[in-house]
Amino acid sequence: MASIPPPPGAWLHPDAEVRRSAIAGSGLFARAPIPAGTVVARFGGRLVTDAELRELFAEAADRPDRPYIDTIAVTESTHLVLPPRGERSIGYGNHGCDPTLWWDGPYTLVARRAIPEGDELTSDYATSTWDSGFVMPCSCGAPIECRGTVTGDDWRRPELWARYGDHWTPALLARIAAARR
Ligand SMILES: [Zn+2]
Repeated sequence: MASIPPPPGAWLHPDAEVRRSAIAGSGLFARAPIPAGTVVARFGGRLVTDAELRELFAEAADRPDRPYIDTIAVTESTHLVLPPRGERSIGYGNHGCDPTLWWDGPYTLVARRAIPEGDELTSDYATSTWDSGFVMPCSCGAPIECRGTVTGDDWRRPELWARYGDHWTPALLARIAAARR
């Protein structure tokens, strides 16, 4: 899996744009209807190992501007480090507990259902993170599905396995397969 190289830059569907979001700060929104299955975002950047990532975090913590480092876990021991946010509106995608997007492979988010114009483009962070230290209050507004708190251990929830099927990052699919054994 680690052998699939990431694209160098991020790509975002032209019908997606950044607007102010009720969920958090800014978010991505559909400015036209997007059919189910459409590729909406492709992440790019560079792959690093666990050790390299720890170094990057340590360097960032030492800098006066404390830059935010955005990463996606690709395999158990490789991470995609995304380019800085200013260079890519793709980084504004918020979490949703009933998301409009889900994963198709390690770098691609596709429309989970037909998305009407004006809907926010969200993914469930459970499907791309396993950092046990990650805890985030959620006010995504999904009436039934909202978990209230999103954590790095949410991937362990069987109801999410059922809901998302194969639409997790490959690293999490491998973890889930192992957990089910
Ligand atoms: Zn929620």
